[in-house]
Amino acid sequence: MTTGTRILVLNAGSSSLKYQLIDMLDGSRAAAGLVERIGEPAGRLAHTPRSGAGREQLRFFPDHGAALTAVAAELSADGLGLDSPELAAIGHRVVHGGRRFTEPTVVTDEVLAEIRRLIPVAPLHNPANITGIEVARGLRPDLPQVAVFDTAFHATLPEYAARYAIDREVADEHRVRRYGFHGTSHRYVSRATAQLLGKDPAEVNVIVLHLGNGASASAVAGGVCVETSMGLTPLEGLVMGTRSGDVDAGVVFHLHRVGGLGIDEIDALLNRRSGLLGLCGDNDMREVVRRSQEGDAPARLAFDAYVHRLRKYLGAYCAVLGRVDAVAFTAGVGENSAPVREAACAGLDTLGIAVDAELNSVRSSRARIISPEYARVAVAVVPTDEELEIAQQAFALVHTAVE
Ligand code: ADP
Repeated sequence: MTTGTRILVLNAGSSSLKYQLIDMLDGSRAAAGLVERIGEPAGRLAHTPRSGAGREQLRFFPDHGAALTAVAAELSADGLGLDSPELAAIGHRVVHGGRRFTEPTVVTDEVLAEIRRLIPVAPLHNPANITGIEVARGLRPDLPQVAVFDTAFHATLPEYAARYAIDREVADEHRVRRYGFHGTSHRYVSRATAQLLGKDPAEVNVIVLHLGNGASASAVAGGVCVETSMGLTPLEGLVMGTRSGDVDAGVVFHLHRVGGLGIDEIDALLNRRSGLLGLCGDNDMREVVRRSQEGDAPARLAFDAYVHRLRKYLGAYCAVLGRVDAVAFTAGVGENSAPVREAACAGLDTLGIAVDAELNSVRSSRARIISPEYARVAVAVVPTDEELEIAQQAFALVHTAVE
């Protein structure tokens, strides 16, 4: 039986490993950091302990195993090693859980095999997540490894929202459907928004706008997700930093047949050279706003296209939910960009949505309401905390498992 009160949260990307060691008694971080450029000559580990100065290692980390071993050594130096009895579990962010994984899951060989079977629908993400789990298991085979899936919160989408209107047999054979992503953030933020309103999540309908490098919207009715903007992959929906979001699927045929582009080129175009970057050459919203305020036409177009798409989803999700109690902005752009929030909500008074200019301009890292008192819908800025959500889910699971 575990008596530990800490959870190590790992988020393994293709060449990076982010980690946070979270104290579950108060949600505080005992340590955090990341290893970047794994497998490249100039790798970097940046470690931030709770107290004292941060530490940096600039060297070659050949693979995720080497990276996690180095992280474990840094944690040991702080007296927080992976062998500590304080550690209750390791929580892993796993991007794609398919239809099977709708809850946090203790990793077994069979679970790992199933996550591997999902690689064709998440070729960029699941392999790295699997590596993270395998490496962590190797270092602490006795400790529960808990997988928390980005898709899980969207498993409640009604069938008519999850299905693309294509031949059912073909879709089922290839597992083509709308899974949605950023679910850990949408879940956390929708609940935190209810808390901000002093209500139970079951009582409120919330539209969550997660606007980071990747961006997605969700409609959450009484704590249950009923619609989200990402689909089979994280490409669908909003205009993002480098991803196009919605395009007519015919664009792909056209670029292939008429433009002569190969399928991988089109994939790279839509995922990595589109969105804000494709429209104006910058994918950082700070730069886009700065340039457009200076009168730069491509940057203005990029900003307007970004906001236009956001407003289309906002309006659509009002229709999906019927009654909306709150709109919550979160992630890098949502938490920090007053111009995006202002433009997204401008002129929506008939929907009950409005932003108070003064409240919107306040910079803060706390959850807050930015709509005027008279507004029917509360517009809120709610910082997301995916790591805490993963840790809480993992902690709850290992405690239920041993009781
Ligand atoms: P990720 O999807 O990588 O987790 P984040 O949620 O950290 O991304 O968001 C990163 C993005 O947030 C950056 O690309 C940048 O465009 C945006 N961002 C960060 N700070 C600001 C700011 N002050 N104003 C506008 N945009 C910001």
